[in-house]
Amino acid sequence: MKVLKFGGTSVGSPERMKNLLDIINLAERQIVVLSAVSGTTNSLVEIGQAYIAGDKPKAAALIGVLKDKYAVFIKELFAKPEYLQQGQQVIDYHFALLSTLANDLFTSIEEKIILAQGELLSTTLYHVYLKEIGVPSVLLPALDFMKIDEDNEPIVDYITTHITPLLEAHPGHNLFITQGYICRNSFGEIDNLRRGGSDYTASLIGAGIRSEEVQIWTDIDGMHNNDPRIVKGTKPIAQLSFDEAAELAYFGAKILHPQSVFPAQKYKIPVRLLNTMDPKAQGTLITNTSEKDQIKSIAAKDGITAIKIQSSRMLLAHGFLRRVFEVFERYRTSIDMITTSEVAVSLTIDDTTYLDDILAELSAFGTVETDIDQTIICVVGDFGAEKHGYAVRVLEAVKHVPLRMISYGGSDHNLSLLVQTTDKTEVLRSLHNRLF
Ligand code: ADP
Ligand code: ASP
Ligand code: MG
Repeated sequence: MKVLKFGGTSVGSPERMKNLLDIINLAERQIVVLSAVSGTTNSLVEIGQAYIAGDKPKAAALIGVLKDKYAVFIKELFAKPEYLQQGQQVIDYHFALLSTLANDLFTSIEEKIILAQGELLSTTLYHVYLKEIGVPSVLLPALDFMKIDEDNEPIVDYITTHITPLLEAHPGHNLFITQGYICRNSFGEIDNLRRGGSDYTASLIGAGIRSEEVQIWTDIDGMHNNDPRIVKGTKPIAQLSFDEAAELAYFGAKILHPQSVFPAQKYKIPVRLLNTMDPKAQGTLITNTSEKDQIKSIAAKDGITAIKIQSSRMLLAHGFLRRVFEVFERYRTSIDMITTSEVAVSLTIDDTTYLDDILAELSAFGTVETDIDQTIICVVGDFGAEKHGYAVRVLEAVKHVPLRMISYGGSDHNLSLLVQTTDKTEVLRSLHNRLF
């Protein structure tokens, strides 16, 4: 059984939604994961922020604007009055819920309920549309089987045990539709897998049902060798290993949610990145194999803070790094890059929630300096320790730009640079011109 995930733009208009049936093979049993209609989650975020700010009129205005968009959407989606009316009921239900949240105390629980409405809307409307055109389908509520634990880690076994009976209950059906992104947390509350999380849903369901393949259908023909939003002339990569794809996704390639590769990797499920606007394009196949001796792609992750801890006590001492790392562990803050010298260590974080506390504790070890607005540039390919010449090619391409940190040798397929965010565009372009 395959899992097909369609992103926001792939369901972004009634016409696009209707065209999904050109891609879905009704002769095969499959699970179709849908994102919210493009722009919806951003609007829901704004609505939540208005509520948090106590600005109910602003929330009401934003809800009104979004509801109007859906009113137009369903008029184009449905042809028959009976189904248009059903579509209207779906909209009325979800938008009434958004409005009534204003009556209660507004906490992060309500905020997450708001964020969940986008995927609930898109899947329910698509399900009603399929009914209208006479295509049998089953709507699987993701909230009945997608679960995260107290550490926000998805529980694959839970997915397996809860989705399997739902699938078995409909032996005669081939098409199952479910919501991306949304889940329940350890308290049973509605939660989500973070922005872009529908990719993660698809991979988790793929793992949960030991799917033969996960397909991520989006608005571009696969993973490109550089960020197409910034660099002209980028090209799709036909083949990536799970490790390479994970590295690119984590370091900023927006086409994939940062964690989405891991469940598929663990259960060795091939992942294909495909283009809804050009279904015949080859796309990218992600599997266990990696192509040798190649620089594959470049990605960039913004919003990075670098921290340098300088201490003469580090000289010839053991246990120093452990004490430094323990500070980050206590504040549940993960470190992305690290470089050391004999008297100093530099590292980067992207979550600055506890930065002040972390800095206060680190200052006990020595002098601490921070640099904000940094970007990690990640060059991915096959360049293990026995290979030579790759680092010099990368550094040669950026010799005109100040480099804050360089990390090489952490794995066989990554060379990372830390630069100021203001230099990011120049670095991406220059690397692209020199490396490809
Ligand atoms: P969806 O809504 O389908 O999940 P996303 O917007 O999340 O789609 O991801 C697709 C977008 O990712 C592309 O339109 C592209 O602009 C962006 N992107 C960033 N880096 C890359 C890359 N290396 N390769 C392909 N797309 C990329
Ligand atoms: N709708 C969610 C978002 O915009 C999840 C997704 O599209 O993957 O982040
Ligand atoms: Mg996405």
